[in-house]
Amino acid sequence: MNNQGRPTAVAGMAETAPATISGDRGLDHEEGLIFELGRDGMTGVDLPQTQVSESRLGGQRRKGAIGLPGLSEPEVVRHYVRLSRMNYAIDSGLYPLGSCTMKHNPRLNEKMARLPGFADIHPLQPQKTVQGALALISELMRWLTTLTGMHSVAMSPKAGAHGELCGLLAIRAAMEARGEDRKRILVPESAHGTNPATAALAGFTVEEVPATSGGHVDADALEAKLGPDVAAIMLTNPNTCGLFEPRVLEMANAVRKAGAYFYCDGANFNAIAGRVRPGDLGVDAMHINLHKTFSTPHGGGGPGAGPVVFSKALAPFAPLPLLIHDDAGFRYIENREDLETGSPFGRMCAFHGQMGMFVRALAYMLSHGADGVRQASEDAVLSANYILASLKDVMSAPFPGPCMHEALFDDSFLDGTGVTTLDFAKAMIDEGYHPMTMYFPLVVHGAMLIEPTESESKESLDRFIHVLRVLAGEAKAGNRARFDGAPRFAPRRRLDETRAARKPILRWTQKTPVADAAE
Ligand SMILES: *Cc1c(COP(=O)(O)O)cnc(C)c1O
Repeated sequence: MNNQGRPTAVAGMAETAPATISGDRGLDHEEGLIFELGRDGMTGVDLPQTQVSESRLGGQRRKGAIGLPGLSEPEVVRHYVRLSRMNYAIDSGLYPLGSCTMKHNPRLNEKMARLPGFADIHPLQPQKTVQGALALISELMRWLTTLTGMHSVAMSPKAGAHGELCGLLAIRAAMEARGEDRKRILVPESAHGTNPATAALAGFTVEEVPATSGGHVDADALEAKLGPDVAAIMLTNPNTCGLFEPRVLEMANAVRKAGAYFYCDGANFNAIAGRVRPGDLGVDAMHINLHKTFSTPHGGGGPGAGPVVFSKALAPFAPLPLLIHDDAGFRYIENREDLETGSPFGRMCAFHGQMGMFVRALAYMLSHGADGVRQASEDAVLSANYILASLKDVMSAPFPGPCMHEALFDDSFLDGTGVTTLDFAKAMIDEGYHPMTMYFPLVVHGAMLIEPTESESKESLDRFIHVLRVLAGEAKAGNRARFDGAPRFAPRRRLDETRAARKPILRWTQKTPVADAAE
């Protein structure tokens, strides 16, 4: 095997371990880039000699080598398997990333999504040939509107943030239809970063609403900011501190009275699905992250799905296409001219949404049933409260709880230790855990947001709690060695994240020594 270009000194090796001859450590292999591994003339396929014919490319003919790496099939397979082993996944361990809802992806969902009738269809196929797929989407829509108590749902948005944009564009269209030009959107300071970003992208100005010392949105401050130029509020409920907003109804009423709309960030719906219907809280539009609440896989930028549910007031402005069911079966209305009523703001994407995610989400719903969906929410809340109760004597919880689906800690328990939230999180990697969400929400100093989800067993939670308790104890006992420069056992040590963000090296060139790459 070609060893060229592999880092030989193993930049990430723990100081305590001696360097190995191969550069690998135990069964963990060091792995170069595929371009470093490949060599000219190697290929995984054996093609017959082509008959040399006159080139018809003229001046367009390639002069240099194409520059693709040459490897055999086993080399390619090993390369990607080795890379995958450097990764952390929900399938390899507890993934406590708060707000991200890293729950188990049931294998049944995968099996359903791979059925050829769902996996092999094409969005341009005649609709009469995909009636089953359309029936599935329709059934999923029924579950989503029923669970949320909302009037209708747009299925095409492809992520939570995309759903936010869809909701705000519908709000903008509704304002235009009323002949009003409202420009302000109120966003709590604890909001996910996508909220203000979406509002700005949709052409609104963003105004922050402060949080109370209890971690809730300051409803009085919100009401004081309402006025004739406010188009909407964007509220997350349960909020990003993991708390249910107790004054949500009051805020919804005030917003309605001011002629504005209530956009709810529904990314945390997994805490209340089956228990609370956002429609009953006065919500006008809300995205649902199927890839969080309904267990479809996510991470690494992979496909998500962010359907948006609408109130009766906003439904006419929902985007195309519109799925309808009549005597002739299911069909999509793709053009405004074919509509009898309503004035959709446009469309969110070329086709109809993420079919594979729809199948997985409905498989999750049908296999759980309505009672199972409710129990999943309750268990998610139970797991988070177990973590909060088990750790709050050694780590500091800014809000005493009980919490909803995630437990929030701040860094005050680390005061005077010299250990930071970042050090603490990196030390968790050495213990085999993906860190929790760090430094979010911003309303808490040095935040650590833990979302265990319902799919962890009590034994798994107990192991996790034990590790965090010992780490917290060691930080307080001044055992800095465990934290300084952690992780010690990961393939790479502490990376210079600032440099990687500021000076990313995005293009591989033969001469870049590996040690100099932004890492
Ligand atoms: C995940 C999340 C989003 C964004 O969802 P994406 O699918 O990642 O675009 C928005 N708000 C909150 C609170 C979230 O947790």
